[in-house]
Amino acid sequence: MPKSATMKKVKKSVKSVKMSKMVYFFGGGKAEGNESMKNLLGGKGANLAEMAGHPALKLPVPPGFTLTTEVCTYYWANKRTYPKNLKETVAMNLARIEQLSNGKKFGDPKNPLLVSVRSGARKSMPGMMETILNCGLTETTIPGLVELTKNPRFVYDAYRRLIMMYSDVVMEKAAGIKPEDDMGIRKQLERIMNDMKQKKGAKSDTDLSGDDLKALAAQFKLKVKEVLGKEFPDDPMEQLWGSIGAVFASWMGERAVSYRRIEKIPAEWGTAVNVQAMVFGNMGENSSTGVGFTRNPGTGENVFYGEFLENAQGEDVVAGIRTPHPINESSRSEQSRDLKSLEQLMPAAYKELSAIRRKLEKHYHDMLDIEFTIEKGTLYMLQCRVGKRNGPAAVRMALDMHREKLATREEVVMRVTPSQLDELLHPIIDPKAEAVTKPIGKGLPAGPGGARGAIVFTSEDAVNRRKEGKEVILVREETNPEDVEGMRAAEAILTARGGMTSHAALVARGWGKCCVVGCAGIEIDLKTKTMHIGGITLKEGDWISLNGSRGLVYNGKMNMLDASESNDMLDQFLKLCNSVRKLQVWTNAETEEDSSKARKFGAEGIGLFRIEHMFYGKGSDEPLFKLRKMIMSKTLEERKSALNELFPHMKNDIKKTLKVMQGTHVTIRLMDPPLHEFVPHQKEKLQELAVSLGISFEELETRATLLRESNPMMGHRGVRLGVTYPEITEMQARAIFEAASELQKEGLKVFPDIMIPVVSLKNEVVHQAEIIHKVYAEVSKKNGVKLKYMVGTMIEIPRACLMAGQLAETMQFFSFGTNDLTQMTFGYSRDDSGYFLKDYVEKGILAEDPFQTIDQEGVGELIKMTVERGRKTNKELKIGICGEQGGEPASVEFCHKAGLNYVSCSPFRVPIAILSAAQSQIRHPRKK
Ligand code: ADP
Ligand code: MG
Ligand code: MG
Repeated sequence: MPKSATMKKVKKSVKSVKMSKMVYFFGGGKAEGNESMKNLLGGKGANLAEMAGHPALKLPVPPGFTLTTEVCTYYWANKRTYPKNLKETVAMNLARIEQLSNGKKFGDPKNPLLVSVRSGARKSMPGMMETILNCGLTETTIPGLVELTKNPRFVYDAYRRLIMMYSDVVMEKAAGIKPEDDMGIRKQLERIMNDMKQKKGAKSDTDLSGDDLKALAAQFKLKVKEVLGKEFPDDPMEQLWGSIGAVFASWMGERAVSYRRIEKIPAEWGTAVNVQAMVFGNMGENSSTGVGFTRNPGTGENVFYGEFLENAQGEDVVAGIRTPHPINESSRSEQSRDLKSLEQLMPAAYKELSAIRRKLEKHYHDMLDIEFTIEKGTLYMLQCRVGKRNGPAAVRMALDMHREKLATREEVVMRVTPSQLDELLHPIIDPKAEAVTKPIGKGLPAGPGGARGAIVFTSEDAVNRRKEGKEVILVREETNPEDVEGMRAAEAILTARGGMTSHAALVARGWGKCCVVGCAGIEIDLKTKTMHIGGITLKEGDWISLNGSRGLVYNGKMNMLDASESNDMLDQFLKLCNSVRKLQVWTNAETEEDSSKARKFGAEGIGLFRIEHMFYGKGSDEPLFKLRKMIMSKTLEERKSALNELFPHMKNDIKKTLKVMQGTHVTIRLMDPPLHEFVPHQKEKLQELAVSLGISFEELETRATLLRESNPMMGHRGVRLGVTYPEITEMQARAIFEAASELQKEGLKVFPDIMIPVVSLKNEVVHQAEIIHKVYAEVSKKNGVKLKYMVGTMIEIPRACLMAGQLAETMQFFSFGTNDLTQMTFGYSRDDSGYFLKDYVEKGILAEDPFQTIDQEGVGELIKMTVERGRKTNKELKIGICGEQGGEPASVEFCHKAGLNYVSCSPFRVPIAILSAAQSQIRHPRKK
């Protein structure tokens, strides 16, 4: 959305907002807000309040306050100004922090309080928004803090960080300055720091002394002045308000706007700002900072999982500047093999943290992502939120928590998103191939499944190659928010640096995309677009394969496998979903293989068996030849004899699937496509056909020409064939009933249903049903077998919707063919609309492609009307959908709400449909 349009929307929405309470305080075992107030306080603010103030938690959270998202909305709607009284309110709340801070005061020369200014939107936007630490350090307060802590190294470390963050976020980004590549102020300051490290022979930033850092801070300030033309502010209040304004400004920053577009987060939401007393992980050896997950987010295992850095401040862990230590043994990785864990280094703090972990899970009933800091041995909690996880982990945790009585059946079902479930169904590298191939690199398993693709080194290349339809893997030193579009376009992401909590890992996990991070052996040369890995050199366009579940990198294009169908976890999870849902899930299948796959997933019937499938693909030569003979027949005799030849093929083909699906309904659709589709184009095939029919080649050509149509999709197809040639319907019905009778005689229970396509008139179905019932009577009598069968119709032409009441007089079921129904309702050709529909979606003319998700407003209205009219005539009418949209979550929910009996979708979408149906039932309960 262009900025002006966004702004208008924001302005409009702010008119209706009355500025109520603008600031919410937390600390000292109390809080004015709580976890349920995410819309107002943002996720971070709401959870800080919950941790600090909920009687069941009262965790050690440094005191602070949250400026609400409404203030952000106001700020953007009012030329970047603040509501009246905000300054006073903030000052008052700052005083409340001071009261809880052992005499520290903001700006006090002797005992200064420092604060962090942190962004926090409703939904987490990893790395998109800004945070400034150590706010309040000035020429006046620095000496006081040095005196107080007797630790000049710490003070100047905090100061150089403040200058880095503040100049970057407030003085550059928020001021709208767009530096050239690599010339951003932060990069420039980092280079100064690296020079200093080199000069001093320091391996890591922690090796720099207090004096080094003091000198560094002075250099930083000069550089800031030189590059940005302004002095670094030396007034604590100026720093505070500069930071607050910058966080609000970052909401409309380019990166944030682009991220929101991808994630469909509305601009009107706004961000909150949290101002919080600083605690220091950089006060020396017994101080540290870390992040963790209450369970392993990569596997779902019920083990505490996390990383930390000694003598550091928060952002260091995520930035990957040093290799983080594991918090315990279960968090150890290849890279941190020899590093001491928190459990080993600070057993008391670790124990306290473990207890908090349990408390939090018990309280939130979910896996949480946490941030903590230990200042001279004292533990503080700085953030918690429901943790991102990949699909397999999500399912595992949900099931475990059900067993641990932490989550109800409904919570379990709601906890896994359809796309997470989809990950369990994701391709993996063929384990056999993997077993005999040596990886060329090993990193951390940050995103599930396997992937392969050609190497690209920049986000832009990834996007461009993707547009050309190529599969690529984005390889980066580490990713940052500017890479998001490229990460999206790539099959998978591979980074040289970063841990399980790095940007790449967070984003990939959120999307369920295959990802390996921190693959230490990689050296990337961006100039030549090459990389060294495992002793070899690969260039752009070379293929690699990743195992994102194990963190392995392979050279070349490995064999891939479809996800396993007999996954125990998947079965258990689907069982829970099945016990919740009311909407049935059927499948679209025509082969034994597809049907049994779908049945294993839990399909309860076949909603669409296309009878003509036997004329396509493998083994279709013979039946196709016979079909062609039938098509080219002129007289009834010719046609009947061709149909007789076709009959055994059809019967046997149907029988196979009926057998697999015994005990369930199998909806067999009569011939649908226009006949000319089957007329051969090659001369020799025509010749062969002529010989077989005993007619001349010229005669055959004439007949073929007669079949040509200028608009075949609306031509002689579907029920229209059956009206012109009743014998075709007759033969199909006979094949179906004979196949079913044979199986029933073998003792199987089969339920064949016959579906008439492309119907728009009552008389069409009356005509066809009569033929079908007549054939049944004959077959039944001949075999002495009684079958349970139904006759129904597709609903795919708007006129059929209008006539639903009449159609239901003779039809026992309806099935919405939403592909054609969408085509005919919009007048969009299914085959040609690809070109312009994407423009429609991009320009917001259409919210979504109606061939992917049901157009609920228009086509949906027709569906609802059809259901109502149909059921009014025939209370028992069974209604389903068999279009492509039948496995798409939003469409499934629509069908659930519209009161359909079932959705039918392709076998691999069956689990998704099952989950969506269960979630729909929880969100919108229906009786049956
Ligand atoms: P993000 O949303 O990007 O994680 P945060 O606001 O959480 O940004 O802050 C960035 C880092 O700074 C985190 O590691 C956090 O723990 C740390 N941090 C934030 N506030 C404080 C504070 N008051 N004291 C110490 N560290 C802090
Ligand atoms: Mg954070
Ligand atoms: Mg159709």
